[in-house]
Amino acid sequence: MLDSRSTPRNDRERLGKGRPQLALPPQLPLPIAEATAALNGWLEIDLEAIAHNARSLRTAMGDSVEVIAVVKANAYGAGAAHFAAELERAGIPRFAVVWADEALALRQAGVTRPIVVLGHAYPADAAEAVAHGITLTCHSLELGRALSDAATKLGLTATVHIKVDTGLHRFGVTLNEAVELAEALRKLPNLVVEGLTTHMANADEVDDSFADSQNALFAQAVEALPWIPYRHTANSATALRRTGLRYDGVRTGLALHGVLPPNSRGPILRSVLSLRARLARVAEVAPGEGVSYGLTWRAERTSRVGLVPVGYADGWRRDLGNVGSVLLTGERCPMVGRVCMDQFLVDVTDVPSAAEGSVVTLLGADAGACITADDVASEVGTISWDVLASLQARLPRLYVRNGMVESLTS
Ligand SMILES: *Cc1c(COP(=O)(O)O)cnc(C)c1O
Repeated sequence: MLDSRSTPRNDRERLGKGRPQLALPPQLPLPIAEATAALNGWLEIDLEAIAHNARSLRTAMGDSVEVIAVVKANAYGAGAAHFAAELERAGIPRFAVVWADEALALRQAGVTRPIVVLGHAYPADAAEAVAHGITLTCHSLELGRALSDAATKLGLTATVHIKVDTGLHRFGVTLNEAVELAEALRKLPNLVVEGLTTHMANADEVDDSFADSQNALFAQAVEALPWIPYRHTANSATALRRTGLRYDGVRTGLALHGVLPPNSRGPILRSVLSLRARLARVAEVAPGEGVSYGLTWRAERTSRVGLVPVGYADGWRRDLGNVGSVLLTGERCPMVGRVCMDQFLVDVTDVPSAAEGSVVTLLGADAGACITADDVASEVGTISWDVLASLQARLPRLYVRNGMVESLTS
């Protein structure tokens, strides 16, 4: 007989959580060691670091520039709901995501401050956006009409931003289209064009000449549309590197995580996210024996290898195999052999205390040593944004304050 509990909907809900509920959810708050006693791999998100970074960036930008928190892609893996809640407490006045459903999820999580959707939206998104006070980036009159209609029906006002493509050639409209669109949208009832925006192509490069040419084009849009009150062009790198391009708000994602973009200097920021795991096994491997798929690493001496229960399905990249390392009691232990979907191996021969249950740090600080997102990124030829945003839902997220785990989500 069919079990009514396993309807497709229930299955979707269960799968959507990414991870079955832990058999015995710990009673929180708990010290980290106790909260993680029966976990394989997990992410620790330092709530005090989030608040510190928000305050430091707000101070660095000054009173006339808003720090807009970009919490797209589940806040780069850190968990958008908790990340945004902490930022809101720290006084962040405005949020940005890329898709309309990310904005709705933030509203459902209780975020009350303005949220702007930076990416493409459909007329079908209009009603929900207006109902929940979400600002869309409007690229067409058709979308503007849908917003105006929805707002009129609901007795509300829709706010939109217009994005000028000044050379990145990703999203947005040309300068001429922006002026035409803005003037047309201005005539629609219950709709306000609040913002004018663009995005830089080479924000974190030392050579600013292309950013300058993009800004010159943006300045023309500003001049043609002086009645649009709110302007924003800067991501973290532009906000930190280019005082003159901050305008009314800066869209900071990476910096709020305590990670600086290349070639940027900023206020002292604190790293928010750590990825840790408990060794699932420590085994001896004789000289000449290999480990993991393909046996691509072979022991040169009698070795002890530790099994780390995190894999490429968690976002720990497969090309870190035989390249990356983890920290164990502050000692660097090299990753050996290929990264599997769910686990990989490390050489712990030089750490005699290594045993089943020992905590290893894949990302973050441990006993005075540290592995940063930049370290990992440079090991595999990618960028720190990619390392963070790759971290998957299967890893439990532990939100930590004062050394205590306040909440735990999958
Ligand atoms: C992701 C994103 C940002 C934030 O970039 P960071 O480098 O993480 O600060 C800003 N603006 C737009 C349009 C984005 O897509």
